[in-house]
Amino acid sequence: MSARVRAARVRAALLTLVAFFVVAGTASGCAGGDERPRVVVTTNILGDITREIVGDEADVSVLMKPNADPHSFGLSAVQAAELENADLVVYNGLGLEENVLRHVEAARESGVATFAAGEAADPLTFHAGEEGGPDAGAGEPDPHFWTDPDRVRETVGLITDQVVEHVDGVREKAVRDNAEHYDGQLADLTTWMEKSFADIPEDRRALVTNHHVFGYLAERFGFRVIGAVIPSGTTLASPSSSDLRSLTRAMEKAEVRTVFADSSQPTRLAEVLRQEMGGEVDVVSLYSESLTEKGKGAGTYLEMMRANTSAMAEGLTGD
Ligand SMILES: [Zn+2]
Repeated sequence: MSARVRAARVRAALLTLVAFFVVAGTASGCAGGDERPRVVVTTNILGDITREIVGDEADVSVLMKPNADPHSFGLSAVQAAELENADLVVYNGLGLEENVLRHVEAARESGVATFAAGEAADPLTFHAGEEGGPDAGAGEPDPHFWTDPDRVRETVGLITDQVVEHVDGVREKAVRDNAEHYDGQLADLTTWMEKSFADIPEDRRALVTNHHVFGYLAERFGFRVIGAVIPSGTTLASPSSSDLRSLTRAMEKAEVRTVFADSSQPTRLAEVLRQEMGGEVDVVSLYSESLTEKGKGAGTYLEMMRANTSAMAEGLTGD
């Protein structure tokens, strides 16, 4: 073999090698770097709602674990990085995810599309507890909008628009079909909740909860909020003994015998209240702001709302 031929063969081999790496590089650019389109959601309730909308069109990752407290959960470094690589971030806002909002802010500053579902849901503000109950940070916006399923229906429409606009590669028709199907299920939920609450007499339509979490439900379905064991819109506050005294007075005046505690919160405070009231109070557990694992009572938003509605109707009509 002449030197010229050998040089030509080496050149050809090198070119093949270069071509191989270019192709391989391109392939990994598609399959590895960007992968499938990805939506990252902060809370598990919004995560379930977003999954219903997105279906198989994109990956949806949820940062908050089952049974966690949305007011206090934090992110790992990996999760924080995930936020910055998302095509769309859906979060609650209105101060709910206190330890996560700065990461959402950082993602937005780096160019990621972000959507604050709570801010878009025509938020209510907290108002002082009725009938002398303790104050709840009156005037502040209330982040717990999901306790009103009508607001969730509006939010589904808005999240759908965000997904179609910001998540490249999803088929618009598939996403809109998913949203329409879910909207029908939410409409059925609202009708069923109205029917379930219909038999609760007017004088028993009074809510005492562990913190102020059911303001939207109260407004939508005609309940009075008497007060909360933690007189605040967040679980991170704690009640003083004078708060507890004023709550027990308000409860006695309204003849409230049922306190709704959150299943993810310790029931210690509700127990203190029970003792304060001479043991004449039932503590009923609800899933107010976190889903559970699948099959554990509140695996989805629809399941959570149905479980709560049944427990409230029962808790407020029993003896
Ligand atoms: Zn809360």
